[in-house]
Amino acid sequence: MLESRRFPYKPRPRQIEVAEEMARALKRANVILEAPTGFGKTPVVLYALLPYVERGRRIVWAVRTGSETDRPVEELAVFRRELGLKLVGVSFRGKRDMCLLARKFGSDLDYSEVSYICSRERSKCSFYRRLGDVDPYPLVARGALTYSEVYRWASEWEVCPYFLQRKLLAHADLVALSYNYVVSQELSWSVRQLIPFDESVLVVDEAHNLQNLDLGGDSVTEGTLQRALEEAAEVGSKRAVELMRHAIDYVADRFKGLGEEESELFDPEELIPDYGDGLLEEALRAGEMVRELRYRQGRRPRSSLHHFATFLEAALGLKGVRGIAFIAEKVNGRVSLSIWDMRSAEVLGSVWSRFHRVVFMSGTLNPIEAFAETVGVSSYHAISVPSPYDEANASVYLVTDLTTRGEELSREMAERYVEAVVKLLSRVRRNTAIFAASYRVQQGLIDAGLLKRAEELGYKPFIERRDMSGLEAAQALKSFKAMAGEGRGLLVAPMGGRFAEGADYPGEELMCVFLAGIPFEKPTTKTRLYIEYYQSLYGEEKGRLYAYIYPAIRRAAQALGRALRSPKDQAVLILGDYRYRSYLKLLPDYVTELLREVNHAQLDRVRLPWLDVKFQSD
Ligand code: SF4
Repeated sequence: MLESRRFPYKPRPRQIEVAEEMARALKRANVILEAPTGFGKTPVVLYALLPYVERGRRIVWAVRTGSETDRPVEELAVFRRELGLKLVGVSFRGKRDMCLLARKFGSDLDYSEVSYICSRERSKCSFYRRLGDVDPYPLVARGALTYSEVYRWASEWEVCPYFLQRKLLAHADLVALSYNYVVSQELSWSVRQLIPFDESVLVVDEAHNLQNLDLGGDSVTEGTLQRALEEAAEVGSKRAVELMRHAIDYVADRFKGLGEEESELFDPEELIPDYGDGLLEEALRAGEMVRELRYRQGRRPRSSLHHFATFLEAALGLKGVRGIAFIAEKVNGRVSLSIWDMRSAEVLGSVWSRFHRVVFMSGTLNPIEAFAETVGVSSYHAISVPSPYDEANASVYLVTDLTTRGEELSREMAERYVEAVVKLLSRVRRNTAIFAASYRVQQGLIDAGLLKRAEELGYKPFIERRDMSGLEAAQALKSFKAMAGEGRGLLVAPMGGRFAEGADYPGEELMCVFLAGIPFEKPTTKTRLYIEYYQSLYGEEKGRLYAYIYPAIRRAAQALGRALRSPKDQAVLILGDYRYRSYLKLLPDYVTELLREVNHAQLDRVRLPWLDVKFQSD
């Protein structure tokens, strides 16, 4: 069915074949595509969906975060240019990114704050009023509209970028948006009015994230409770003060013995005193007053009291629902209370059924049956593309005398890890990442002298911290990448974190990855609950694999794959834990094919693929 169409690039091996298979399969079922990074999944999927678009269906392209919405639209621009197609694509962002007015209330406002401001301001907002005079066709004619383009035009015309974008959606063949706009009932409603989901094909990018997606859970910290108490006193609500005093005392007393990173269950009803009739309603009312007050003062319409009251209301409403847990955790010395929704299969399954068809794609979905079951995909056609990497691209080692097994990383083992890394660094002399099993393991390596030893070798370390702001992280990443030419950057970050997943390191930006341990969850109450819930759904063995083993190995595979982003990338990859031997078939195929076993003292003799084969740059 695609024969008559051209592909807009010189096809790489298997691209056309996969697109053909996908186009055929979509006639009957949803498709799960697992293909390595560098395969070119985005153009292949877009190409396979062209017949659908030509028949009037829309493509809803869901990405993990708002910052990734431009990518499919940029790809659509190539299709327009190369194939002469008159398709329209819009990169859709929420009001948080698009409101021109909210910024006068402060920077870094969250979604609910901007929504609040818009609900109060819209009737008198000049940006909104002017929108009626705008003819969207000159923009529609441009075809592929990234978020910044829409924002720029709207700013120039002095109209609201958010509502201009909504006007454009009515004309869009493809809309790229974050998962939230598909998964959340509240947010998807606003998009569904303009793009009927039942007539659209949904593409879920980086679908391996779905199992751990935040399905609308919420959390409050001891800090939230303290600020809520102050606000209750500020607006003179004695009953809200009573509620907050009780909640603060309850948390302090009940969780005083909770250790760092430990978790326990809590009962939301215990946050309200026994005589508490009407306290919650009063706290909601007082919280609204605080938001109103801040708004009138021209400040962020934020209220911790309102947040706590809505959190408690939601928790009480969900009490007793299977798959929902209420967790108290201690992080950075503070207790945080969360509503945790583990029902990925149940909740997401109902989302997929709203669409005509769904395509799930990622580089790490192995094993596909487990992925499908855990995210509620019942009938599907699976396509798995082997990776193109061989010994010209990579050398892969499993270190037989290293492990992070056990509750704590012993000093002796931490020092052995540092020795291993030092030997490796002295050999590779290229930008390297140490991806640790957890922040605790990372700290154990740092305490054992990792940074000092690396600096003595001329490397400059960049460390991911738990409390790092988005801006700080972006700056650290930029500085690390900038060292590619000298090959002296050393990134130290936990697996599953923002540097080990999502970040791209093409070419020489990252040429060596060392996995320090396997990123299994710490055996806390939370982990136990998660495993038990999955065992209740899938049986004892499968439940443990789905909830505990597969997610950890997927995080490791993601981290490992950072260094191989295209068929011309080259890297040294080290599995720094002997237990990986048991999970090799869950890792990318090139790992098993290229794997050699060594002990930590032999890492100064690893093979450097770039000495053997030099790829020509394009
Ligand atoms: S209409 Fe637009 S610019 Fe005006 S407040 Fe709402 S989102 Fe902001």
